[in-house]
Amino acid sequence: MSVEKLTASVRNIPDFPIPGIQFKDITTLFQSPEQLRELSDILYESYRTKEITKVVGIESRGFFMGPAVAIRLGAGFVPIRKPGKLPYRVIEETYSKEYGEDTIQIHEDALSRDDVVLIHDDLLATGGTMVAAYNLVKKLGVRKVFINFLIELEELDGRSLFPEEVEVSSILKFSI
Ligand code: AMP
Repeated sequence: MSVEKLTASVRNIPDFPIPGIQFKDITTLFQSPEQLRELSDILYESYRTKEITKVVGIESRGFFMGPAVAIRLGAGFVPIRKPGKLPYRVIEETYSKEYGEDTIQIHEDALSRDDVVLIHDDLLATGGTMVAAYNLVKKLGVRKVFINFLIELEELDGRSLFPEEVEVSSILKFSI
């Protein structure tokens, strides 16, 4: 299956959740078993040699493929969640995003110095969410970090926010 076919199956919803946003609906991407398998294969092939020990998924759309790729890589899964959801002691970051402001949290003991981490989310827009997630993961002192998105909105150039040594990759590219 081609990346073009996967790209074509993402549904664009204009002006959702607010006017001016071209919302990328990934539920249509996940509906087909072949496409779901293809996404999982692409993720697995991209990271299978990287010695990933933990996949970190960002609430909530990072929870769809995050655990799936963690299982295939033989890695653990760690959630980054919105405030009030994680029951144990947390560290947090506040950030602004394409629409609105938000705070995210991670359990303070979720990662250790030996971990090689893949942080996964559905979509890179301005990059605010992932920078906050990257900062949280770095605070926990891990060995190495990789960053992955299913979709990248290239015109917003969110990837320029990350240090050069961090490998940032996305499967499907959209202009906006
Ligand atoms: P950002 O922090 O600006 O990179 O925004 C990324 C987060 O917001 C991701 O978790 C996405 O789920 C969501 N998001 C932002 N823009 C869009 C969009 N155009 N379509 C779908 N989700 C979006």
